[in-house]
Amino acid sequence: MDNIRHMNSMAEKKEDLVNRVAKREMGLHQIDDEAEPSEAVEIRRKAVEKMTGRSLKSIGSVSLDYSSIRNKNAENVIGGTIMPLGIAGPILLNGGIAKGEFYVPMATTEGALIASTSRGMKGITASGGATARIIEDGMARAPVFALDSIADVEKFLKWIKDNTSEIRETAEATTSHGKLKDIMPFVVGNNVWLRFRYGTGDAMGMNMVTIATEAACSYIEQNFKGARCVAVSGNMCSDKKESLINNLYGRGKTVICDATISGKVLASVFKTTAAKANEVNLRKNLLGSARAGSLKYNAHFANTVAAIFAATGQDIAQVVESSSGYTWTEVRGEDLYVSVTLTSLEVGTVGGGTSLPTQTEALSILGVSGAGSPPGSNSSRLAEIISAAVLAGELNLICALSARELGKAHKKLGRNVKDANAELPKNSAD
Ligand code: NAP
Repeated sequence: MDNIRHMNSMAEKKEDLVNRVAKREMGLHQIDDEAEPSEAVEIRRKAVEKMTGRSLKSIGSVSLDYSSIRNKNAENVIGGTIMPLGIAGPILLNGGIAKGEFYVPMATTEGALIASTSRGMKGITASGGATARIIEDGMARAPVFALDSIADVEKFLKWIKDNTSEIRETAEATTSHGKLKDIMPFVVGNNVWLRFRYGTGDAMGMNMVTIATEAACSYIEQNFKGARCVAVSGNMCSDKKESLINNLYGRGKTVICDATISGKVLASVFKTTAAKANEVNLRKNLLGSARAGSLKYNAHFANTVAAIFAATGQDIAQVVESSSGYTWTEVRGEDLYVSVTLTSLEVGTVGGGTSLPTQTEALSILGVSGAGSPPGSNSSRLAEIISAAVLAGELNLICALSARELGKAHKKLGRNVKDANAELPKNSAD
């Protein structure tokens, strides 16, 4: 009897909260103070259903541990979004650290993307595999300081140089994994940006370096009178925005991956030749991008990067700079040499969305879930594997364009048109 009374009063309480939110007597976020995480999610969803008159059954059917998401991954949660998750591969990779054959998880709603990446991987593996190397690694945060005059700017720059060890000590005291690599100054008039760059172990590191840089900024303000930190992020970092600075100096990992595709494989897998594929790269990726004023001299890095980011719990908005880079090709006899350079690949295997259940499993397919030993080895492996998948995507699309196959596969795999005259999954949109 007591149980029934308790259940009734719980149901009444929930109903009351739904009505109060729907009538805007309380905010969506305030439900978190009134109910357990999973109940708060349900109450919020019902309130939104009431306000919009729409059923949110599918959004509500996603099973998640909301107590581990609260105050960590998202606010005002009402359920989840499901994306199809497919597998590309295997690809044979001889990385600086990632070695072996890899099956790569990709979450996407773009038909043909996974098939196209897989075909690229097939061609690379049949030609002996890809090689990847990380040539730079550092997550940047660049606070902007205002000073009174350029005379003060001059003194400030010297002071920063002379006091780098103390600044480093202050920043690194906030983290056990973050290591300050350097501070690069930039000046406009009486404004100074200090671009702090850190090693961040297996974390992508954005929260880590923001916290560390905030501590460094307080130290600077306290010890150099007249320097005012206007914002801990002054956009010279540059986070989630297209920028030349990331292309030049890198952000996250700068990783290069290459392969030589034999003439035989070009003919049998891609139905093309080295000369044809090379011409597409020169006229499209290089000249076309230059003419368009693009900072991205590639065919579709963003497709591959976004799908792997979504699958593995990376910060999706960082696809902006993580898909910056260059595709380079050379004709070598009958063979095609191809490389991709990703200037700013921002990835982690701990922190952020990487600890969510499906994302953790996706990382485990690659053998890089969680902290690596030594720290940083897992995030480096992930970066190399992503670069290899990007190489496969570039190779396949360039070859498909050179064989004039782009529309055919999209009809078949993107629109489910049965008679698209495409016997194999071939390519993807750029
Ligand atoms: P985080 O989840 O905030 O922190 C990860 C923490 O894991 C590290 O700080 C580190 O603690 C610890 N850790 C344990 N083992 C580690 C290992 N092997 N290597 C490195 N760290 C290890 O993650 P984050 O990468 O710093 O930040 C990512 C999040 O920031 C994402 O959710 C992203 O969306 C968000 N983000 C924030 C900003 C911002 O401005 N704050 C901007 C963009 C994105 P210790 O530091 O104590 O060593």
